[in-house]
Amino acid sequence: MNAFVCPSCHTPLNRRQSKYGLLWVCTSCHGRAVTLQMLRKLVPGPIVNQLWQRARSEGRPHKRSCPGCRRKMTEVSIRAGQRTEQLDVCQGCHFIWFDQRELEHLPRRPAKPTQASGRRDDAAELRELPVEAREALAMARLETANMKQGQLHTADDDSDRWWNFLMALLGIPIE
Ligand SMILES: [Zn+2]
Ligand SMILES: [Zn+2]
Repeated sequence: MNAFVCPSCHTPLNRRQSKYGLLWVCTSCHGRAVTLQMLRKLVPGPIVNQLWQRARSEGRPHKRSCPGCRRKMTEVSIRAGQRTEQLDVCQGCHFIWFDQRELEHLPRRPAKPTQASGRRDDAAELRELPVEAREALAMARLETANMKQGQLHTADDDSDRWWNFLMALLGIPIE
């Protein structure tokens, strides 16, 4: 049974296997739902706990329906790069929804010298890479973000880490 529906555009979600566990992908808007369990494998505990605490605090907006249980998810703001991004968290079944559409509007990182066009963004670039390259890139991003664990960090560091985590999560190849 696969009755999961995209909370953003209402397209049925595809259940996919990745190296890190199951995730649910919208083929229309490219958003992804992951479980808290999977997020814990990829993102350092304190960061996940912080996200979870924010989801549980009162006064958060509840806008979109969980693809799993249809209850309203809690919207959590995180600073990623230069922007504030919204994640949607279901406290009932521990789903976390990532909106790829929003990520595509993230400011581009400085263009690589080999890039012919300056109009590319990272998310589009990721989708066109071969699976092996995407895997490597996603892992490199996670390592970069994880390397900062244990260091004294500032709010700016956190936002950089989140940016790396988000790009890595969205770049994880699916089978
Ligand atoms: Zn969608
Ligand atoms: Zn749910």
